[in-house]
Amino acid sequence: MYDYDLLVVGSANADLVIDVERRPAAGETVLGGDLAVHPGGKGANQAVAAARLGAATALLARVGDDAHGRLLLDSLRAAGADTVGVLVGGAPTGVALITVDPSGDNSIVVSPGANARLTPADVRAAGSLFHASRVVSAQLEIPLETVVEVVRQLPADSRFVLNPSPPRPLPAEVLAACDPLIVNEHEARVILGDARVSEEPADWARLLLAKGPRSVVVTLGAQGALVCDAAGVTRVEPVKVDAVDTTGAGDAFTAALAWQLGSGSAPAEAAGYAARVGAAAVTRRGAQESYPTAEEVDALCC
Ligand code: ADP
Repeated sequence: MYDYDLLVVGSANADLVIDVERRPAAGETVLGGDLAVHPGGKGANQAVAAARLGAATALLARVGDDAHGRLLLDSLRAAGADTVGVLVGGAPTGVALITVDPSGDNSIVVSPGANARLTPADVRAAGSLFHASRVVSAQLEIPLETVVEVVRQLPADSRFVLNPSPPRPLPAEVLAACDPLIVNEHEARVILGDARVSEEPADWARLLLAKGPRSVVVTLGAQGALVCDAAGVTRVEPVKVDAVDTTGAGDAFTAALAWQLGSGSAPAEAAGYAARVGAAAVTRRGAQESYPTAEEVDALCC
């Protein structure tokens, strides 16, 4: 009855990465290694992760009419995601300029570019995609007013999942629509607006739930995750793996969780599956390049 298991509304960026011996100080020029260009952005990452798992997935996003935009479209299509909602033009494709030193520390400059031009009017014009989708997922690398419009466009029977990254205080209207709100520690602290809250993640989850979402999931990296709803807090055990690169793990977790919830899985069961997807993603380098197929998730021992 639905064309899509998941509609992702969000960003698409080209990540331009150069390894350097030392990150430059103001006014300094340093030589680095060869440029690597990777498809990224939280929206595109989620769409690729879900599609690779086998979910019927569409992305509503904006890219530039340029080589980076074509790279992103190619990556989405290769994973099997529908790009009918990817708007082209209006500004250059969003870019993250990343330098990484030998210790793994990085410096990043983001040019939101076309992501900043994904407007509430674009969301209204894509109304048919919302009605064709079981679950809608968003993040905050697009304008907040666009996310507010997403919430207003949600059909009554659909489910909304939000990863508020990069974090900022959220209007009550957006919080009330989340089922779940998915946060890591940093995002939890910003949304709660108090850096001195308890050190206990279960407390953050309860405090966040009191702000209005129907449910909350706190991701804890190698410690797994917590699910919190009216029934209480449930711990999701981590899957033990040799982590190589955690880039994009949260996006893979969120996409898998959104898809599984839409398929009717109970929250703790869906989060358990998402934890396996996140764990599989950290065993390989990169973001989109690291995302597993359903067979690879099934093969991951737990
Ligand atoms: P974010 O990237 O948003 O901070 P996390 O790092 O918490 O998100 O990762 C999301 C999920 O991926 C975690 O809740 C966990 O299930 C899984 N994960 C991340 N890092 C690891 C790891 N080192 N070992 C096992 N699972 C991991």
